[in-house]
Amino acid sequence: MTKAIVVFSGGQDSTTCLFWALQQFDKVITVAFDYGQKHKAELECAASIANDLNVEHHVLDLMLINQLSANALTRDDIDINAGTNDSLPSTFVEGRNMLFLTFAAIFAKTHDIKNIITGVCQTDFSGYPDCRDIFIKSLNVTLNLAMDYEFVVHTPLMWIDKQQAWQLADELGKLDYIRNNTLTCYNGIKGDGCGQCPACVLRANGLNKYLEFR
Ligand code: ZN
Repeated sequence: MTKAIVVFSGGQDSTTCLFWALQQFDKVITVAFDYGQKHKAELECAASIANDLNVEHHVLDLMLINQLSANALTRDDIDINAGTNDSLPSTFVEGRNMLFLTFAAIFAKTHDIKNIITGVCQTDFSGYPDCRDIFIKSLNVTLNLAMDYEFVVHTPLMWIDKQQAWQLADELGKLDYIRNNTLTCYNGIKGDGCGQCPACVLRANGLNKYLEFR
């Protein structure tokens, strides 16, 4: 039996990855991280989707991220901004994907799981160095050496843009589900969201472009 774990936030990207994984593997479980997100809705959304899909869901405590860095995802006094050519967005948490994948891998091995799926993407690269393909490949090797295990890190969204991510959702037959039930918005509003924050703007642009040429 092939088994996989999806690093899962309840957002558009990781939910698309979850549906992708459910097509590829016999058994799929999900893991979410609680790092003190301002919007508990994110964790609730992830749990609710996993429940809808009858997927075993786990939440790991990663509150220590807030001892390491101040960011707009967890702090009310830091505004969300998209970042400029010279600066990263205020939602950036240094090394976050590295931490998530590392904890997911340790958890996976204890569950006898080799396949790890993450929704990171280089195409819409916001300047997060640990979302790059070269980093994921490097970490994959490191994890295998660290635990003497044959992990395979899958990144179904790595080379596609937001428009193509909606296309993939549609090809999986889940466009409407993903549109209505996932949470991407920085203001914690499900589905089409607040429409104003950088995450909503990016998501809406991709969706509109896809629907226009569908
Ligand atoms: Zn929003």
